[in-house]
Amino acid sequence: DSVMERILQRRSLQLRNMQRTWQESPEGRKMLEFRKSLPAFSEKERLLQAIAKNQVIVISGETGCGKTTQLPQYIIESEIESGRGAFCNIICTQPRRISAMAVAERVSTERGEPLGESVGYKVRLEGMKGKNTHLLFCTSGILLRRLLSDRNLNGVTHVFVDEIHERGMNEDFLLIVLKDLLPRRRDLRLILMSATLNAELFSNYFGGAPMIHIPGFTYPVRAHFLEDVLEITGYKLTSFNQIDDYGQEKVWKTQKQLVPRKKKNQITTLVEDALKNSSFENYTPRARDSLSCWSPDCIGFNLIEAVLCHICRKERPGAVLVFMTGWEDISCLKEQVKAHPLLGDPNRVLLLTCHGSMATSEQKLIFERPPPNVRKIVLATNMAEASITINDVVFVVDCGKAKETTYDALNNTPCLLPSWISKASMRQRRGRAGRVQPGECYHLYPRCVYDAFADYQLPELLRTPLNSLCLQIKSLQIGSIAEFLSSALQPPAPLAVQNAIGFLTRIGALDENEHLSNLGRYLAMLPVDPKLGKMLIMGAIFRCFDPVLTIVAGLSVKDPFLLPQDKKDLAGIAKARFSAKDYSDHMALVRAYEGWKDAEREGSAYEYCWRNFLSAQTLQAIHSIRKQFSFILKDAGLIDEDVRSNNKLSHNQSLVRAVICSGLFPGIASVVHRETSMSFKTKDDGQVLLYANSVNARYQTIPYPWLVFGEKVKVNTVLLRDSTGVSDSILILFGGALSSGTQPGHLKMLDGYVEFFMDLNTAECYSKLKEELDKLLQK
Ligand code: ADP
Ligand code: MG
Repeated sequence: DSVMERILQRRSLQLRNMQRTWQESPEGRKMLEFRKSLPAFSEKERLLQAIAKNQVIVISGETGCGKTTQLPQYIIESEIESGRGAFCNIICTQPRRISAMAVAERVSTERGEPLGESVGYKVRLEGMKGKNTHLLFCTSGILLRRLLSDRNLNGVTHVFVDEIHERGMNEDFLLIVLKDLLPRRRDLRLILMSATLNAELFSNYFGGAPMIHIPGFTYPVRAHFLEDVLEITGYKLTSFNQIDDYGQEKVWKTQKQLVPRKKKNQITTLVEDALKNSSFENYTPRARDSLSCWSPDCIGFNLIEAVLCHICRKERPGAVLVFMTGWEDISCLKEQVKAHPLLGDPNRVLLLTCHGSMATSEQKLIFERPPPNVRKIVLATNMAEASITINDVVFVVDCGKAKETTYDALNNTPCLLPSWISKASMRQRRGRAGRVQPGECYHLYPRCVYDAFADYQLPELLRTPLNSLCLQIKSLQIGSIAEFLSSALQPPAPLAVQNAIGFLTRIGALDENEHLSNLGRYLAMLPVDPKLGKMLIMGAIFRCFDPVLTIVAGLSVKDPFLLPQDKKDLAGIAKARFSAKDYSDHMALVRAYEGWKDAEREGSAYEYCWRNFLSAQTLQAIHSIRKQFSFILKDAGLIDEDVRSNNKLSHNQSLVRAVICSGLFPGIASVVHRETSMSFKTKDDGQVLLYANSVNARYQTIPYPWLVFGEKVKVNTVLLRDSTGVSDSILILFGGALSSGTQPGHLKMLDGYVEFFMDLNTAECYSKLKEELDKLLQK
């Protein structure tokens, strides 16, 4: 140990020399000047003292005041200066991988070093860190994973948890684990950082930890709501209910009818009516999306374009920041704007994007100032709300939505969909315009919509299904799930926890004593809902991986089949072409995806999507998620390197059908045939209908007694979205009914309406099952 001690001491001295050399160099001095100008600098000494005296502190301060880049740096600098640099190990978590990377890059530049020296980063599947890294920026997920194998965080001296105001599930989860760890690691320091002033909540959680606020200054920002924006831009509004998807608007733009511009108060009434007529509670997120009531998506890109034009033509110099919901929308708008005579002119406009999957080269451009007379326009996700600061922004365009996961209580499916932001988020967005001079903010929604915003966003822990989280808790081996979650900052409802445990037990991820099974261990590694994870693993085991991978990717993104209001029939017919009598929306998805891949190879992807009513962006997203999942499964050793061997049985339709059933069970409806018609029933809802776009809605009869479905949507009646027909025997073999504890093979309990009984002990049944199995295992 004393050898180790000596090595570290020597290393510490080297670090000090390097640091001093940089600080005394001309570039280093210039950098120091800049850093001293940040508001955080005035609190430096107070901060260092507070951290020395207290195990936990909570820091709040306006975005851009220097929390993320400066505070961890103050610690590493002062440790290095005192000759103890090599003994300190700082971890700073970020909610998003892109900010972990960007911030690490920035801090290493500020320290005059290449990335991966004293400052590094680590995010899932990627990292830049070396043996000399003493300040590590990582995602909260990475730190949670590290805690799996290193419960005491040995060797770590400081943990910063950044952006806690966002209340992401991983951050809330991390806080429970760290709170538990602190008494065991008295020397460990925990620093929580937040961009808003709700620091008390966190301080109380840690027994009254001291709070430090970094005072900042912002210029006033003038707010324009939709009413004013329409006035300013002279934009003509179409009806509110026409378009339900950015992509669709692009496709159907030519057919859109412009109605005369409405007067301010008429617009407000129109919006209020639209909001009144749609009772949100009845919709699952996806239905809310497709049956959309008023949303800025309806107005879409054209209004954003009009606002950008107005700013470029009439307003003073200054960068523009546009908040959109996601990468798909951003790339779509970018295409549209590039074709615009003014906005697409590179001599006048520098068009940049800022989102989770942007290239590092593009990241740097965001912070640079454009040449004079060129206006910088940045299309961003809510990443630019707090984690990334662009200094020269004077104009903000806010579409009012952000993607958030929502809990679909009906069937436990988490969805990542755009929803309204909170008042707090809106203030954050607006504030981005006032950093260097007074600014302007254009909100693309009426004031009455803003009035209905929640004050703060609900913590993610309270609005997502807990299935995946409970699995993770179990794999952390920290005892009972319910007990663990009851110590959260805002604990989820006991019923939600019970639901999750019940579900995990039923699919076999947990045993009846709440112990993790082998299946559960694998499911914990997959970033999807456990039921889709199970389908994926079954696809791997049964060697029909590719089609199942496509289905799981599709179900975890969204439906690529478009359903334009005025072309429902044509769209339905186009989709049915992919079904080839297999009575399955899931198989149709597989065929559509594969056709798209072929079309891409031939350079005809655009026509292909157009002809078949498919969304190219969604297919692209499915494509990239597929890659991600297969990487993880390869990593876990669940599939081979060899694509062919994973797909030996992929052409076997019955088998793929069985695997679909194994994942979607107990989402199951019985098919009731009458003389001339056919209806569907589920145990919980009674009569249900099929979604208009389902291939199964087009048949007179379906030669299967059951449909398995991934999602049901409640409007007036319950609608089943995607479904696949399955036989009795497949249900018995793959539905998990055998282990349900009642009589073997007795499926009656699944459905209160149809007498269905299969006694496994009879010869007839035995031979039926055997026949089915033979069919399934056909090469
Ligand atoms: P906070 O975490 O408080 O929001 P940061 O520490 O991220 O603030 O940023 C502090 C300041 O550092 C910003 O206002 C900005 O001026 C500057 N800055 C941050 N990242 C970069 C970068 N990559 N390039 C140039 N300047 C940056
Ligand atoms: Mg920050």
